[in-house]
Amino acid sequence: MTDGWVMVIGLEVHCELKTTTKLFCGCPNMFGNEPNTNVCPVCLGLPGSLPVLNQKAVELAMAIGTALNCDIRPSTFHRKNYFYPDQAKDYQISQYDEPINVDGWLELPDGFRVGIERAHMEEDTGKTTHVGATGRIHGADYSLVDYNRSGVPLVEIVSDPDLRTSAQARAYVTELRSVLVATGASDGKMEEGSMRVDANVSVRRSADDPFGTRCEIKNLNSVRSVGRAIDYEAGRQIALIESGDRVMQQTRHWDEDAGRTVTLRSKEDAYDYRYFLEPDLVPLVPDADWKAAVADALGMMPAQRRARLADLLSDAGSVTDARTEQVATVVDLGLDDLVVEAIAGGIPTALALARTANEAATDPEAARQLDTGSYVALLSMEAAGTLSATQAKTVLAELLAAGGGDPSAIAREKGFEAMSDNSLSATVAQAIEGNPDEWARYCAGEDKLAQVFIGQVMKSTRGQANGKAVVTELQRLRG
Ligand code: ADP
Ligand code: ZN
Ligand code: MG
Repeated sequence: MTDGWVMVIGLEVHCELKTTTKLFCGCPNMFGNEPNTNVCPVCLGLPGSLPVLNQKAVELAMAIGTALNCDIRPSTFHRKNYFYPDQAKDYQISQYDEPINVDGWLELPDGFRVGIERAHMEEDTGKTTHVGATGRIHGADYSLVDYNRSGVPLVEIVSDPDLRTSAQARAYVTELRSVLVATGASDGKMEEGSMRVDANVSVRRSADDPFGTRCEIKNLNSVRSVGRAIDYEAGRQIALIESGDRVMQQTRHWDEDAGRTVTLRSKEDAYDYRYFLEPDLVPLVPDADWKAAVADALGMMPAQRRARLADLLSDAGSVTDARTEQVATVVDLGLDDLVVEAIAGGIPTALALARTANEAATDPEAARQLDTGSYVALLSMEAAGTLSATQAKTVLAELLAAGGGDPSAIAREKGFEAMSDNSLSATVAQAIEGNPDEWARYCAGEDKLAQVFIGQVMKSTRGQANGKAVVTELQRLRG
């Protein structure tokens, strides 16, 4: 940060809940359907319609509260009144002064704890699409509105103003996303809008000064945008103050292409919304049994998952920074069970972790579906030297594409089978991997370079290999 300035950041994260139906009606909660097909009188706010609270949505909200170490409280619903075309009712049902979850915290991978002020339930709005050059309301030729998202259940997670750098804010969003996915509440797809971040940013000259006036940047939809928008906004505020001006409390929009924030409106206060108790819904009072049932059903959270792998690494005496990073990657992608099961199946810890973090992680969705037995069988072949690393990666790609299979059959199909007796082609592949330049030249026609590989293979097999067989293998690989 410039000249000792300090940022203060608080994040508000909207998380769409992965329910089958909407928050107050039976319409499907589904992304990407034909516009205005998942609608009914309730979510369109037609006269005489009445909301009925979705029990599953409440349970997911409670799961989020539990995972974020919140108190789960008796709560009420309020109407938040404002006009916008994406909201046919002219009000949004939200929770106001009595939210379901309060006073929690989220611990980041480095141990830093961020306070959670509240995590309340509310309904999502519809979606407007502004058609025109800018894609924004200003200068649009016309706008389209789709109410499919109207009434989709959300939990809004409001952090305390505890974050001090954009890197910390990114770490918070990344960790929160993993937690939300682990609770089963969210699919974590920021690019589809399942998770949207509003960043509140202020600056001050020193950490001893009181907080400065903040601006809120709306609807950031990637971890990267969160970091960029915060850095830009802090810089803008510092420049304003240093030029003798002052920061006005505002709601701002992040322009991803221009890399800057622009004014959306001056900040509205709670009283502008004329909140009042929703007369059509009763208070929500989860009892102890219900809370306990939700807590019991909750799986392991990312922090516990990282700790579990860190323990296995240290048991194997193989903790390094790179591996700690790999642990974070596999946990973030939900692939840690695969690693744990591979290790349980006798695969060396470092190999299980590396193949998962580097190769399986390239297609996390497929990797989460992958048959564990096939994966362990493949890594066993690599660990035994029956397959080279390169060959194992090739076979893994096939397993991922098919969701599983017999790795030795695939290896045979690929022509990796010959070495299963004497592991010749594995050794040749290793020699190639170790000498990429010579391999390129050999492939380009410099036949005499075969000697380099023969020498390598002889060395690593202590002279056991057949030089002619090595050449045959080299020619086969050159194709
Ligand atoms: P409002 O009721 O106006 O939305 P809140 O007090 O609920 O305001 O705060 C909204 C978010 O702004 C919270 O995440 C909070 O941590 C953050 N926040 C509050 N004050 C500041 C500040 N001075 N600088 C940065 N963030 C702040
Ligand atoms: Zn509906
Ligand atoms: Mg608020």
